[in-house]
Amino acid sequence: MSNELISGSNFIRNIIDEDNRNQKWGQRVETRFPPEPNGHLHIGHAKSICVNFGIARDYGGICHLRFDDTNPEKEEKKYVDAIIETVKWLGFSYQQGDQEHLHFASDYFEKLYQCAEILIQRGHAYVDSQKADQIRANRGSLTERGIDSPFRSRTFEENLHLFRRMRAGEFPNGQHVLRAKIDMASPNINMRDPVIYRIRHAYHHRTGNSWCIYPMYAYAHPLEDAIENITHSLCTLEFSDQRPFYDWVLERLTEAEVFLRPMPQQIEFARLKLAYSITSKRHLRQLVDEGYVDGWNDPRMPTLAGLRRRGFTPESIRLFCDRIGVSKADSWIDINILEKALRDDLDPKVPRSFAVLDPIKLIIDNYAQNSQEDCEAPVHPQHPERGIRTFPLSRELWIEREDFQVNPVKNFFRLFPGNKVRLRYAYVIECTSFDTDIDGKITAVHCQYFPNSKSGTPGADNFKVKGNIHWISTAHAVHAEVRVYDRLFTHPNPEVDEKNFLEAINANAKHVLQAFVEPGLTHVGKEDRFQFERHGYFVVDRYDSQPDKPVFNRIVSLKDSWSTKSKKDKS
Ligand code: ATP
Ligand code: MG
Repeated sequence: MSNELISGSNFIRNIIDEDNRNQKWGQRVETRFPPEPNGHLHIGHAKSICVNFGIARDYGGICHLRFDDTNPEKEEKKYVDAIIETVKWLGFSYQQGDQEHLHFASDYFEKLYQCAEILIQRGHAYVDSQKADQIRANRGSLTERGIDSPFRSRTFEENLHLFRRMRAGEFPNGQHVLRAKIDMASPNINMRDPVIYRIRHAYHHRTGNSWCIYPMYAYAHPLEDAIENITHSLCTLEFSDQRPFYDWVLERLTEAEVFLRPMPQQIEFARLKLAYSITSKRHLRQLVDEGYVDGWNDPRMPTLAGLRRRGFTPESIRLFCDRIGVSKADSWIDINILEKALRDDLDPKVPRSFAVLDPIKLIIDNYAQNSQEDCEAPVHPQHPERGIRTFPLSRELWIEREDFQVNPVKNFFRLFPGNKVRLRYAYVIECTSFDTDIDGKITAVHCQYFPNSKSGTPGADNFKVKGNIHWISTAHAVHAEVRVYDRLFTHPNPEVDEKNFLEAINANAKHVLQAFVEPGLTHVGKEDRFQFERHGYFVVDRYDSQPDKPVFNRIVSLKDSWSTKSKKDKS
């Protein structure tokens, strides 16, 4: 298969190509995406999903969805269900033929335990009875070697006996741990006898109270990979220092003939760090718990549930991940790359429509009362084959408040007294006057229309106007709630330098508007998307929208207005 052609070449694919040339695993490519079910997935996970599932797909292999559920206190089934839904929504499958590669680390607890006994029997692990802070203190530092535990020289019989008693629940939390016996002088601190089992009397969402000892991530992960016959174990850079232990533990168990060679290979790539966004689950949880947002799926959240509700398509997220690629160096990704992928995906797909978000009434004084006529517009200007949409014109219309100015600023080509504009897909009008209330607030704008100027008729070309405004007949308009979102953070790197990311929250990132949309939008389905001309892309909210009370979320504006806006704000 010509893999490079599909998603571009990168260093991971180069390694796989080389392995395939050498027949390391024949031609087999098996990857895994291993979330811990302790929260919802975010845009950073999307990168890992696209890398792991994308590589498996392109090499004719399979990617497993594996829940790394070795931390009972923090994990819950609701997260498992949400993660499964999100992976499927992104368009990936862990199904191969009739085999479903949906796995749980907790299914391997017995096997992981047996492996630990083997390590003990072969002199590669010991029960340490130091307190946690002693273990920490004796670990040494980057410049100082660690100090051997006084329990390091226990016999294997004694270790085995104690470890079995740990499993049997004879000790409280923290009384003993099982450690790998490697080298307290290693320059890599992760190799200084890392803890591989701890006592935790805790209920696990899948195994209940069957276990009171739980394996540590660094120990469990390589074994899970080996048990599942993973070929390439792709993870983020912070695991680089763990790779020697990953290899060490698999080497010891392969010598013991628990696993066969070749062993899975860990390969690290850079995490996604997205500007104006955060990707730490802990911080995301804080936003939810402390009420800064309306839940995990708030459309302002960088969670995949939030992005979905905001109106992102799976295709746009995959396109974004393809465009940023994978590399070995950390870097910040500009949010414009994400928004550009989104617009590039939406633009050719979504139908056009009118929406008036900040309505003011326009009265066509020379248009007959109780009269109306249909106007026609393309569903999509670049795709005439998608047909036309029709909507009625009548004497009273909604237009945007900002499309009228009493005293026009320079280069304002829309409505002001004496000026002509075209009502998009309808007539040319000339503004004649306006009404105000006692406070001087404008309540309505008046105009005259030119009956021989209708768009699409031969007379239309005789009128040359600079402005073109959208409108909706008041009698036919559909009332809708429109939620306009902005970026959740005002700082491009809200999490760096231990600064308080809460201070960077944009308190004005959500505006709820009472708007009017085109009559054709009376029956919209959840997650239907539209381009409201001039305003951007919008999606029907998948939770709050009702058939008689539609709710739209703004997905993204038509252009990147942020850079100009922030310049303006500064001036
Ligand atoms: P936590 O925030 O709790 O440390 P995590 O972000 O590491 O969690 P996991 O559920 O352990 O979340 O992640 C599953 C996989 O997703 C891991 O392989 C991890 O490397 C990857 N991943 C997480 N965040 C990112 C990111 N920002 N970019 C790329 N991959 C990521
Ligand atoms: Mg993690």
